[in-house]
Amino acid sequence: NEVATMMSVSTTQIISACMSLGIMVTMNQRLDAETLAIVAEEFGYEVEFVTAEIEESIEEVEDAPEDLKLRAPIVTVMGHVDHGKTSLLDYIREENVIAGESGGITQHIGAYGVTLEDGQKITFLDTPGHEAFTAMRARGAQVTDIAIIVIAADDDIMPQTKEAISHAQAAGVPIVFAINKVDKQTANPDKIKEGLASMNLLVEDWGGKIQSHDISAKTGQGVKELLEKVLLEAELLELKANPDRLATGTVVEAFLDKGRGYVSTILVQNGTLEIGDYVLAGTCSGKVKAMQDERGKNIKKAGPATPISILGLDGAPQAGDRFNVLEDEREAKQIAAKRSQLQREQSVRTQRHITLDEIGRRIALGDFQELNIILKGDVDGSVEALTDSFQKLSTDEIQVNIIHKAVGAITESDVLLASASDAVIIGFNVRPMGNARAVADKEEIDIRTYSIIYDAINDLKDAMEGMLSPEM
Ligand code: GDP
Repeated sequence: NEVATMMSVSTTQIISACMSLGIMVTMNQRLDAETLAIVAEEFGYEVEFVTAEIEESIEEVEDAPEDLKLRAPIVTVMGHVDHGKTSLLDYIREENVIAGESGGITQHIGAYGVTLEDGQKITFLDTPGHEAFTAMRARGAQVTDIAIIVIAADDDIMPQTKEAISHAQAAGVPIVFAINKVDKQTANPDKIKEGLASMNLLVEDWGGKIQSHDISAKTGQGVKELLEKVLLEAELLELKANPDRLATGTVVEAFLDKGRGYVSTILVQNGTLEIGDYVLAGTCSGKVKAMQDERGKNIKKAGPATPISILGLDGAPQAGDRFNVLEDEREAKQIAAKRSQLQREQSVRTQRHITLDEIGRRIALGDFQELNIILKGDVDGSVEALTDSFQKLSTDEIQVNIIHKAVGAITESDVLLASASDAVIIGFNVRPMGNARAVADKEEIDIRTYSIIYDAINDLKDAMEGMLSPEM
């Protein structure tokens, strides 16, 4: 869809171009660099990978095998709603007390690490569900090593269970099933295992290779054994990292704290992060001023598979953004600036919604027959007058639809309606109120405000004439 918009062709054309190359794609799929180049060429475009150029300067050096040390697995919990994902994460968080340390994990920073009795560690991503998992993957972040898929034994294998399984499989992440709620009278774990078998997912009890354990996230029954199975699976993966290098990893979440500034939770995946390091994360950068773990304790260093919240970035990077430590603060700043510029340019090029400026171009391409308008005005009279005039602008080729009209300021709900129906918002003697402007910017909705009826009509007419212009 994005590449279609950039080249001003329809999505169907891109899909069929891919098909002729023997690649089946859907609208929201990302194409690899090679396919992109071939497809673009078919439409007479040459692809230039601008990001790649920027990223080259921070390309990561391969670690020598002798520098690699075992690291903790990073685990995501997925499954159908109400099957007990949150309960399981809470149980593990609350029950885990590191030897010699009193108190459990107090801070919700988006990820946490636990140490089992035998000293082995597991890192959990604290946002359950495959939406977060997939959002991260969509941004190119591969964070999860193992997926725990929770299935309630008093229920069935539900649609979201299947989705979670597909998402884990698509990412090539091994699954450990947690058959939950076995404390319940109505629980029937065998039925679940049978269901999995019929999906070609044979768990151990059924003679297969996939790990599974019956648990109760409520009483804690079986949770320890489940985690042992996770560690067994991790052993097979031989997860390693090099603690003796500049840190790299992924942003888990970030927000603005009124007192402390931008707080970002990051997961160190390789190397060791230290206070004073210059971090580049997505379009943000800054010197690490402080680091805290999930227990709220200040720390000075964080090695592989450690989640930490850091202070010092100049903004809030997005979940799934990669972070790197650079030797040179200036370079970090420059790359961050280049990335934001690129992001702005890209958002203009891949605009999802229509603007008045865009209408002419789209009509010339022949893929635009309807112009949806949401009209807000200060008094009934002006709204009616404009409705009339706008509708009269309809031609054989372009139908003007006033999908909503009312007296009053432009609200957030108007913007959401515009977003859902790809409409332009026109305000007469009224302005956006409250959150409307911010949401419109985010949703890329065009809001035009006028105080002269004639101007409003003329602008729309110009836009539509643009539509009908040159060779038509
Ligand atoms: P999520 O939507 O997958 O995160 O599910 P929750 O963790 O919010 O759990 C949904 C409901 O099931 C809650 O009311 C939990 O208390 C309950 N629940 C979760 N695990 C168990 C369990 O092992 N046994 C029982 N009896 N109830 C559970």
